[in-house]
Amino acid sequence: MDEKESILVVDDDKNTREVLTFMLEKKGYYEVETAGTGQEAIEKARAGFFNAALLDIRLPDVKGVDLVASLREMHPDMAAIMITGHASLETAVQALNAGASAYIIKPLNIDEVLATLRQALEKQRLVMENRRLFQETQRELAKRKRAEEEAQRRAAQAAAHVEELAVLNELGQALTSRLDVEQVLDEAHRGVSRLIDTTNFYIVLYDPDKDEITFALDVIEGEIQKPYVTYRAGQGLAEYVIRSRTPLLIKENLPERLKEMGVELLGRPALSWVGVPLIVGDRVLGVMAAVQSDATSRAYDEHDRDLLLSAASQTAIALQNAHLFEETQRRVTQLALLNDVGGKIAAVLELDSVLERAARLVQENFGYHHVAIFTVDHEQGEVVMRTRAGEFAHLFPPNHRLKLGQGMVGWVGRHGETLLANDVDAEPRYVNLYPDLVPTRAELSVSIRVGEEIVGVIDVQSPQLNGFDESDVMVIETLANQVAMAIENARLYEAIRQELAERKRAEEALRELNATLETQVAERTAELQAQYAWLDAILRSTTDGIVVTNEIGSIAQANPVAQAWLTRTLSPEEAGRLREAIRSVARQACAEETRLRPEAQSEGFSRKNPVSLLELTGLDLELSAAPVVEEEGAEKPTAAVVAIHDVSHLKALDRVKTHFVTNVSHELRTPITTIKLYIHLMQRQPEKWERYLDTLAHEADHQARLVEDILQISRIDAGRLEMEPCPTPLNELTKAAVANHRVLAQEQGLALEYHSAPPRFGGAGGGGPVSLVDPERMRQVLDNLIGNAIRYTPEGGTVVVSTGIEEAEGRTWATVTVADTGMGIPAEELPHVFERFFRGVKPREMQLTGTGLGLSIVKEIVELHGGRVAVESPSTGLRAGTEDVGSTFTVWLPLAE
Ligand code: ADP
Repeated sequence: MDEKESILVVDDDKNTREVLTFMLEKKGYYEVETAGTGQEAIEKARAGFFNAALLDIRLPDVKGVDLVASLREMHPDMAAIMITGHASLETAVQALNAGASAYIIKPLNIDEVLATLRQALEKQRLVMENRRLFQETQRELAKRKRAEEEAQRRAAQAAAHVEELAVLNELGQALTSRLDVEQVLDEAHRGVSRLIDTTNFYIVLYDPDKDEITFALDVIEGEIQKPYVTYRAGQGLAEYVIRSRTPLLIKENLPERLKEMGVELLGRPALSWVGVPLIVGDRVLGVMAAVQSDATSRAYDEHDRDLLLSAASQTAIALQNAHLFEETQRRVTQLALLNDVGGKIAAVLELDSVLERAARLVQENFGYHHVAIFTVDHEQGEVVMRTRAGEFAHLFPPNHRLKLGQGMVGWVGRHGETLLANDVDAEPRYVNLYPDLVPTRAELSVSIRVGEEIVGVIDVQSPQLNGFDESDVMVIETLANQVAMAIENARLYEAIRQELAERKRAEEALRELNATLETQVAERTAELQAQYAWLDAILRSTTDGIVVTNEIGSIAQANPVAQAWLTRTLSPEEAGRLREAIRSVARQACAEETRLRPEAQSEGFSRKNPVSLLELTGLDLELSAAPVVEEEGAEKPTAAVVAIHDVSHLKALDRVKTHFVTNVSHELRTPITTIKLYIHLMQRQPEKWERYLDTLAHEADHQARLVEDILQISRIDAGRLEMEPCPTPLNELTKAAVANHRVLAQEQGLALEYHSAPPRFGGAGGGGPVSLVDPERMRQVLDNLIGNAIRYTPEGGTVVVSTGIEEAEGRTWATVTVADTGMGIPAEELPHVFERFFRGVKPREMQLTGTGLGLSIVKEIVELHGGRVAVESPSTGLRAGTEDVGSTFTVWLPLAE
């Protein structure tokens, strides 16, 4: 059964309340509550729900209308019915406006009340039902909406997940292409930012060797922080993740959580924190973390952590790759640098420069704090700092020395092994001679070895703990090798330089010697060449034949003269005789030399060369041979030189001499015979002395002339004829000579004419040809010619003497011509008239006096003056019928310029 509907009756009239209660409970089966005042009504309504309220419009404390409004406000589903004392439209409108469902007018009619109430309740029920339905619909709608929203959310989530995967994928792709740590970190940041809130985000890298963390990427409130900071690993959240190697998510209550975990909160305040380790294999490379510091933002959750973890694993691999790549790059760069350094120091050849440069280059290029190079002084048992570079350089005194075995450097100098102390406090061999000055925390010493010998130590130091790693060892060891090579080079260079210097000195000496020798050789060569040329000239120019033979007389060489004889001018038969003569005389000479050799050694020995004479047709040769001994002290001569002298002219001269002497004696004897004869006649016929005396005088004159002529000839032959040439006017000279012969010509009945040449240059007074002659000698020439002409011309003849100027042989000559009309000279005699002692047949038959020397003297004198003399005599045939054909002698003399 339904619950009874509850009704609240509000009326200040007690009776009305009771009546209505009674009616409603009994007749209407309602549950009824009553209230006498508005206040009481509100309290009751507040205490419980009523389906309807019947209210008197007039109440002592409130207006019914206001009460309706209040109750409706409290219970909107409650029906309100106003009870009024009178029916007024105004009241009804007021009541309805206030929310009343209906109104009843007093006096109350039970049925009307019940009907109105039922109606109102029904209406109310409908309203309520509607509302319920509405509300249900609304609920349904809301539910559906929620379902839709959920579906949407799921879809969004799925999409987000896909997006996240895509982002992670992209991140993976992007990271694989990055080989630079910074780029990897940037890429990671970019990728993670698409996945979670990275307003505050960082990536730290961890160096386990140095136990340091570096904020390699740090974003604070969206701002990327630079430069990155490195910390010694401490108790921070990042270190916690590094040590635990697991992701850490703190959603809230961060400070409390940190306290629980024993972790310090470093830096900015945080509310929510998520961090994941960057792990590759078993190595933790660092941490990637995001921080929420703003209370309004969403705290990080597991999903964020997982996303971050995915990004981290990819980032870690990329980082590892980048590290590897960087390491490779670093190695490559190191190797390139080392190569560079090696090249630079190898080029230096002076040891101190090598070391100084090596230290400086490696310090600069590899950024070491301190680099020093020591050499080992084995004699002193010490290592000596030769050069140093870097920040500690000034801390060491110059000439810093250590005993071999002392300190790390000394130890390496003795043992040669590389020594690395990344914490010098833990290295027993480490010694710091200047602990207050040198803040070394790590030291690396490497020996420099040339072959087996330890020649030095390279030492690098760092003020940082763990300052060196294996790549530094590699760098310094490589450098040590390079320095060793450079030292070896420098040593070799020094050795070579010394050797070169020595060689140069030797060369210099040799060159000087050579120069001297060269000069000597050149001088000697020149001398020999001169000698040779001289000899050659002699051999070529000599009129003698010179032949060189071997020791048995075979011809090896012959000069042009000898060659001509042997091959051309002589008949083969005579050439053969000459060869034989050469061989014979050469052999003789060689044999003689060999035979006389021992005596020949003695001083002052002179030997005669064999000589032989060979008479050939028209050629008389004298051969003389001399042995040739090539070396001093040689046993035998190896060759002979045969000189062949043409002695034909000597022979001819000899013949001429004999002839001359015969002639002279004959010519001299003739007058003497005559004189003797006349003296004899005078003795027999003294009365005729006068006649004979003439002849005697004549013969004596002839004798005197002959002697004079002979003397002159011999003077000419001896080249002793004195000549004093001077410009002489020929006209005058000739005229005088002619005048001198006038008497003689008259006595002979001859006409003597003189024709002078016309004045040559047309000048008056001077004129006539002038010749450069000795007037005395020329006078002798003219006397001779005129004398002959008079002598050989019979009575009644004419002698014409003339001077003139003639052109011949391209020049102008002065001439003197003596022409006669005498006996002339037969053609066969003409070539001989100028020969000594030649006399024509006719003059001799006619017993005409003469010496036959006159014309020869004329010819000699004229030729000594550079002139010539010629004779013409027409053949007898030309002047047939007459005996006398005449002769013309012409003397040609050069003109004096
Ligand atoms: P020489 O007159 O003493 O005999 P030369 O030497 O003067 O000697 O003359 C040589 C020869 O030349 C003469 O013997 C003569 O036969 C010839 N001869 C010289 N002059 C003339 C001339 N004018 N007329 C003819 N014959 C001459």
